[in-house]
Amino acid sequence: MTDSPLTLLHHIGATDVPSDNGATFELRSPTNGSLVGHVARGSAVDVDRAVASARAAFTRWSNTPAPARGEVLFRAAALLTARKDAIAEVMAKEMGKRMEEARGDIQEAIDTMFYAGSEGRRLFGHTAPSELNDKMGFTLRRPIGVVGVITAWNFPVAVPSWKILPALVCGNTIVWKPAEEAPASGALFAQTLWDAGLPPGVLNVVHGFGEEVGAAIVAHPDTKVLTFTGSTPVGRGIAETGGRMLKRISLEMGGKNPVIVMPDADLGLAIDGVLWGAFGTAGQRCTATSRLIAVGDAHGRMIDELVVRAKAMRMGDPMDPATDVGPLVSEAQRGRVHGFVERAVADGAHLRCGGQLPSDAALRGGWFYPSTILDGVKRGSELAMSEVFGPVLAVIQASSFDEAIEIANEVPYGLSSSIYTRDVNQAMRAVHRLQSGITYVNAPTIGAEAHFPFGGTKDTGNGHREGGWAPYEFFTELKTVYFDYSGTLQRAQIDNRED
Ligand code: NAD
Repeated sequence: MTDSPLTLLHHIGATDVPSDNGATFELRSPTNGSLVGHVARGSAVDVDRAVASARAAFTRWSNTPAPARGEVLFRAAALLTARKDAIAEVMAKEMGKRMEEARGDIQEAIDTMFYAGSEGRRLFGHTAPSELNDKMGFTLRRPIGVVGVITAWNFPVAVPSWKILPALVCGNTIVWKPAEEAPASGALFAQTLWDAGLPPGVLNVVHGFGEEVGAAIVAHPDTKVLTFTGSTPVGRGIAETGGRMLKRISLEMGGKNPVIVMPDADLGLAIDGVLWGAFGTAGQRCTATSRLIAVGDAHGRMIDELVVRAKAMRMGDPMDPATDVGPLVSEAQRGRVHGFVERAVADGAHLRCGGQLPSDAALRGGWFYPSTILDGVKRGSELAMSEVFGPVLAVIQASSFDEAIEIANEVPYGLSSSIYTRDVNQAMRAVHRLQSGITYVNAPTIGAEAHFPFGGTKDTGNGHREGGWAPYEFFTELKTVYFDYSGTLQRAQIDNRED
């Protein structure tokens, strides 16, 4: 990638266009503040144009055979594979994800392209016998219309791919607002679909801010489906507005994910897992390990090594392979994370490492925050209950398996959870009792695979799942067909009854 700033326009219909009012905003690197690009700042007028374009494209796209829709995704997968490193560089630059993880983010989208593309040859319905002779019943999946997609910055390619690709294969058309903090890598992902032959108007992108573009997508009468990933308060607002308009809505929101470590666990494995889960992507994952619930003497046997290893993690440029932890996405986010740590210390938690803004001159130009461990965090305290979305691990002690499960479940969220133990009975009991959409055994809370459902319970979601086979239900309308080939009037519930 060259160092000259990018120009990002909306993509409406077949062309890249500026905002109707000409407005733009600056995209700056969280690593050093350098200018990454100028981005069109959309408004309700641009959303209106994009929705009109998506509506106009719907008839042709929805009538394209689903296997042919899937073939576009296969071609895009080849392009995305070829462009993976270049897009990863843009991602690292715009939102600070380490190169290795940025490549992983894009690989998730490639995997989803192959899965979703092949779903074009399935989109299964059901058949069932009729209660009458010479009659059958079956179901079909039909596209719904224009889907409004609103996404967060922390997975700028993978998360949009979980929504956009199944929606496309199902025959819908789309208006997407990428996150304002990371619009560039997402736009390059969309470009692979256009270059692979996605017809004009099927996927439209409008850049900009949540209250301007996002809110206009939500309130537009022609976006019949809304799919959102982001914070719980914003998701709640989208559900309120969209719910009043009877839209179909899928929400993927925050998490406060626990790892339970039992005394019988392989503690070396658990320490590796907790460090990766808590500090990978600088803790900016919805599935990040935010709480370590250490049972019995597991606490004393692992805490010192955890602290030593967290202290040794190297903050730095996400493009440098020696970096363990990149920057946080923005100054505001770093201030928010630091506020949680300061209040937890004031509340009596024991700061074991991190918790200070870096003084190193090389890091002063960016929004770095060190890997931070707070021990002795009280049950029910702010740090025990709230999503931080940064490299901060709250350590809570439990005296038994039952108490650990109770602690794990007492937060409002339910995205991911994990238990480390060698006891298979205990592991299976935890799988049943942990209130989360995803549970890992002997692995950290992060690491979803594209072909399994992803999503959470409680305040994390509203019951839908992305990934795997789950979203095809969400992005289609079910039609039931009764096919009577008897040539006579047959009356269900009447003509097959003698009594
Ligand atoms: P956010 O809710 O502030 O923003 C997410 C998106 O919503 C952005 O595109 C934003 O512009 C838009 N938005 C903001 N206000 C809006 C409004 N009033 N109307 C419509 N759209 C609006 O979230 P964030 O802080 O950028 O992202 C971090 C959050 O995302 C965390 O809570 C994290 O857990 C969550 N997340 C969840 C998942 C998941 O799959 N469960 C995945 C990634 C991130």
